[in-house]
Amino acid sequence: MVLTEKYQLVKKLARDFAENEIPQELQDEIEATHELPVAFREKIAKSGLLGIKAPKSLGGQGADTLAYVLMIEEIARVSMVSSIYISGANSLGSGPLMLAGTQEQLEKYLRPIAEGRMYPAFGLTEPGAGSDAGGVQTTAVKDGDYWILNGRKCFITAAPYADYTMIFAKTDPKAGSRGITTFIMDMNLPGISLGKPENKMGIIGVPTSDIIMEDVCVHDNDRLGDVNKGFSNAMKTLDYGRLGVSAQSLGVGQAALDEAVKYAKERKQFGQRIGDFQAIRFMIADMATELYAARELVYNACILKDKNDPQASMYCSMAKYYASEMCNHLAYKAVQIHGGYGYIKDYKVERLYRDARVNSLFEGTSQIQQIVIANNLLK
Ligand SMILES: Cc1cc2nc3c(=O)[nH]c(=O)nc-3n(C[C@H](O)[C@H](O)[C@H](O)COP(=O)(O)OP(=O)(O)OC[C@H]3O[C@@H](n4cnc5c(N)ncnc54)[C@H](O)[C@@H]3O)c2cc1C
Repeated sequence: MVLTEKYQLVKKLARDFAENEIPQELQDEIEATHELPVAFREKIAKSGLLGIKAPKSLGGQGADTLAYVLMIEEIARVSMVSSIYISGANSLGSGPLMLAGTQEQLEKYLRPIAEGRMYPAFGLTEPGAGSDAGGVQTTAVKDGDYWILNGRKCFITAAPYADYTMIFAKTDPKAGSRGITTFIMDMNLPGISLGKPENKMGIIGVPTSDIIMEDVCVHDNDRLGDVNKGFSNAMKTLDYGRLGVSAQSLGVGQAALDEAVKYAKERKQFGQRIGDFQAIRFMIADMATELYAARELVYNACILKDKNDPQASMYCSMAKYYASEMCNHLAYKAVQIHGGYGYIKDYKVERLYRDARVNSLFEGTSQIQQIVIANNLLK
């Protein structure tokens, strides 16, 4: 797709931010300390990047989905972990609010997120309910003006940074996915504790942990949307989230290709550049072609989503499925082209290989995307 001038400018702005503000030394510090430095998080907050998708009237940038995806792609090209911190606030954290928030809730929660004064998390997954998200066991029982929440969420991105978490809990345990309600849970409420930060393979620096709820009292004013309508809110939020992961996959894929091309031009064996061997040239040709195909799929899905196309969910799943698998292939090949050096942490491809791996797992595994696509075609 040939991007119009407006989108090219968005891409350039995001690229400039990523290249100037996320230098290699900062990325190495994040990997070594397993934390995004406070000063860096403040810089992101001030830049307006946490409110790319929120409406201008609520302190955000009011960007459409394609502009959002272009920004996430460019940031992920330099730093996947920074792009997750940004997409976490824009998609999974704000999505439920944008879909179901009352004016009062939008002012109270979405505005401060967009202005970088608060950070949200998204609490759907549980130890017994991953792909089968409708099977959550966390309960919310009404008690006067309050709801009493009990349960355990797991794998929650940025839980230790979060001021609020969107919690999906059963309000009618017998009704399956039709008995789930969304709550905006203040992370300072009594009864909330966190599990230890997970020791992850990649995306090191955005902590992931369990959230344990023991008799947590959430006011009915912080119920988001209608009772028992939370599951559809989660699924619609995930459509946008999947486009964010697709964008991250494009960014990581582009970085893998860039590194592979650079190395293939520099490294000499048997008296010539390895880039002159046909085996390496074909690998690079395949990488560029897969990346181009994924980019078309992702950008097109953004446009269909904003047009409310009836099959937009299927296209979001196709984009996420193809792009996340693509970035894994590209990272694998980039390491292969680097030979033994690709296995060494001094080379960027080693981190790309680890960071890429999560994209076909979170926000719905590749198998779940295949199920969504097939269900659309075979209904
Ligand atoms: C780093 C990280 C961050 C995350 N952040 C968040 C977050 O912020 N909030 C949140 O709520 N969740 C988060 N998650 C959870 C993530 O969305 C789940 O891990 C994911 O949905 C898969 O669930 P699971 O891990 O329980 O795997 P399972 O559902 O147990 O799947 C195991 C395997 O079985 C396959 N499988 C399952 N069901 C089917 C089926 N019907 N047909 C075919 N194959 C199937 C899967 O594809 C997979 O290969 C995060 C996960 C990770 C790793």
